[in-house]
Formats: sequence, structure tokens, C-alpha cells
Amino acid sequence: MSKSILVIGGGPAAVWAAIEAKKRDPSAEVALLTDESCEPYEKPPLSKAVLLGNANPDDALIAGKGGLAAHNVAVKFDTRCHAIDRAARQVVTAAGRLPYDALVIATGSLMRELPLLPPGTPRVHYLRTEAQARALKADLATSKQMVVIGAGLIGLEVAASAAELGIEVTVLEVAPRIMARACDDETGTLILAEHQHRGVDVELSTSVTQVTRQLDGHIALETGNGDLFIADLVVVGAGVIPDDALAKAAGLTVQDGIVVDEQCRTSDPNIFAAGDCTRFPGPDDMVRLENWRHAQDHGAVAGRNAAGASDAYRTVPSYWSEQYDLYIQGVGWPDPNAQRIRRPLPGKGALLLETRDGVLCYALGINAQRDLAAIRRLIERKIPVDPAALADPAQPFANMLKAKA
Ligand SMILES: Cc1cc2nc3c(=O)[nH]c(=O)nc-3n(C[C@H](O)[C@H](O)[C@H](O)COP(=O)(O)OP(=O)(O)OC[C@H]3O[C@@H](n4cnc5c(N)ncnc54)[C@H](O)[C@@H]3O)c2cc1C
Repeated sequence: MSKSILVIGGGPAAVWAAIEAKKRDPSAEVALLTDESCEPYEKPPLSKAVLLGNANPDDALIAGKGGLAAHNVAVKFDTRCHAIDRAARQVVTAAGRLPYDALVIATGSLMRELPLLPPGTPRVHYLRTEAQARALKADLATSKQMVVIGAGLIGLEVAASAAELGIEVTVLEVAPRIMARACDDETGTLILAEHQHRGVDVELSTSVTQVTRQLDGHIALETGNGDLFIADLVVVGAGVIPDDALAKAAGLTVQDGIVVDEQCRTSDPNIFAAGDCTRFPGPDDMVRLENWRHAQDHGAVAGRNAAGASDAYRTVPSYWSEQYDLYIQGVGWPDPNAQRIRRPLPGKGALLLETRDGVLCYALGINAQRDLAAIRRLIERKIPVDPAALADPAQPFANMLKAKA
């Protein structure tokens, strides 16, 4: 009898798990269960091209134009999984129970909600789904003054998109610098300068302590510093938390993310997990990542292993962000004890390189896509590098790939 593989989720980890499971075992019946109503779509354009009106969410389907059906994967839309009955090997949905031989959980992240600005409040937006992107885009069309809470990746991308649409934007950030988790101080300062140059007011080391709605519908936000900001639109980008509740309720090991081994296996050998919702073995410790490439690659490994493979997930992670004409990209594992080297780049470009034990471990660039593609290979292959050459713009990174590991 053919094996039944179920995948819970509708993001890149789930889609790639389903596609790779089917590829690895074509005789298996693979089904993806998503609580959304549409074919799974990419999230990165939602805060950029979609808000600017340059793309629609369904322009970028994760499984390609033909959707999951083109990969012989069945999809059940509007199907929320309420529980996993591990003893019976069944997933519980409102429509009934679905049996599995192997299960992949890829439930992603949930937005961190601010009690003062709960989702559902008129003209207050959170951004995770295509429906939320459409709603935000509609409100942007009538907005003049917007406040963004949080200067992380999503908050700053929304701020950049709104500023490009001619809206007056203020960003309120609790930390003393922007993109504190994704960037070093110096690179963050360059990005901050670009926002300020575009007219965005970025207020650091501040947080909202009171919210009131004015008679004309505007929202007044008071901060701990005693400042008052008036907005006709508020976007909350206060980070995300792993959506691990389903796994936890099923008794799987969860520690701020579903704990998996390097083969994406949870504490139940028949259940795998991948993407934003997991905590997995990093180079030094158990880690969580919240980015697109990790979700895709992790999902692919989980899917193959659910179908009988024993692949290990050993990644060189990467993320990117687009704000105005800045393409910000990080590759590798940052290390507080690494040696830091900067290479000057022309225009708005910047490049930070980190080495550990004579090899590159991390790089962060602005408008340095070509360099970062070569740097990624230097990191993956652990090729020894010369710090003086790394700092020298006349030394192409591609040439360094010729050295032996
Ligand atoms: C607006 C936005 C812009 C982004 N931009 C970038 C970027 O530029 N670069 C980058 O690297 N990353 C970016 N990211 C992050 C990246 O998109 C995520 O890391 C990635 O989507 C995580 O994939 P995932 O499959 O793990 O989870 P998700 O994409 O979160 O998917 C989880 C899915 O599971 C479904 N689900 C949850 N629970 C259940 C259940 N019980 N039953 C059924 N279905 C369920 C959810 O509805 C959702 O469809 C962005 C994210 C957002 C929101």
C-alpha cells in the first residue's frame, strides 16, 4: 500500500516538504493542509512590491504557476489542523480525521501582538498574509500620516514602501538602534540614514504607552518619553513567535520552537517539522531562523526524510531585505568573537565580513549581491582567506574560490 504523507502549513517550508516528499517517493500519497483559502504564495513581496502596487500576491506562487497540483500533491484549503492524535497517527480537522504514516509540521510564525494595538482595531495593521497585505494596501491609499511600530525588517520595509507612496512616516523603535537582530551598528546606521534622507522620522529607544482614538478617527500614540504621535494608519511590526502550539499540545518536545534533530525529526520519529516553527541544531547550539531560504531548504529536507531519506540539514543561512534602492543581505552565522573586516564599495554599497579561524563565517552587505554569491561559496567550502585581500576592493571574491579548503 502506498505511504500517506501529510504536511501541515501553507508557507515555503510546507510546500517544499510536500514537493520533495513526492519526488523522493512518487508512489506516496502526499497532501498539504493549509488554513488559508488560496494556493500557497511567497510572503517577501507582501511588504514591498505588493504595497507599491507593482505585484499581486498570486503573481508569486511558491509551487510555480501550476501550483501544487502540477507536482502531484493534493491540497486541502481552509483546513485548519486542530490536533495531532499521535497514538492513532491521525490529524484532526473540522472536517474529520486524516491518517498519516509520516507527518511534517510547518506552521510557521505568529506575529507578536501588542495589547495596546490588538489586531482588528480599525486602521491598525499587522502583516503576515496576503489578505492582510491587501487590506493594508487599501488603507495606504487613503493615508497621509502613518506610524510604524518596530524598526525590524518588516517594519522598515513597510515604512520604505509607504514613504515611496508619499505618506508621512514615523517609526517608533524600543531598541537604541534599528534592525538590531539582523545588522551590526555601522550597517544599521547607513540604513537609518537612507530612511531619514527619504523623510522618514525614526524615533529610537521609545515605546508606546497609551493609545487613544480621536473624534476624527485618527489614532494618538503616546510614548514613554512623553511624545505624542498622531496617525491615520498604524502598522505593527513587533516581531514573530514560532507557531508551535499544535506540536506542544501533541506532546512533542518544544522549546520556543519545535525541537528537531538535523534530519528535521521531532521527538516522535514519525513526525518531522521545518521552517520558522522549529528550533534545530546550528553550528554551536540549537537555533531558530525566520527567513525564506531557511524555510524552503529546511522544508525540502524534512519532506525527503518523511519519504524515507536520511538527509542532514546543514545550512549556511541567508536573508535579504529591500528598502528603497538598498538590497540588504546577510549570509552565514554571525559570531560576536569573529574578526571583523570592512571592504569599501561604491555608491550606497557596504560590506562587512567576519572570519573565524582563518575562514569566513558571516557577511552582511548592502547592494553587494554578486560579491555575496561568491562569499556564500567561500563560507560553504570553508576556504581559508587573507584578511588583507578581503578588505581590498581590487581582489575579486571569485578569485579566492580557487584556493584549496
Ligand atoms: C511580509 C513579509 C515579508 C518577508 N520578507 C522576507 C524577505 O525579504 N527575506 C526573507 O528571507 N524572509 C522574509 N520573510 C520571512 C519569510 O517569509 C518566512 O521566514 C517564511 O515564510 C517562513 O516560512 P514557513 O513555511 O516556515 O512559515 P509560514 O510562511 O509562516 O507559513 C505557515 C503556514 O502555515 C499555516 N498554518 C499555521 N497553522 C496551521 C494549522 N494548524 N493548520 C493549517 N495550516 C496552518 C499558516 O496559515 C501559513 O500559511 C517575510 C515575511 C513576511 C510576513
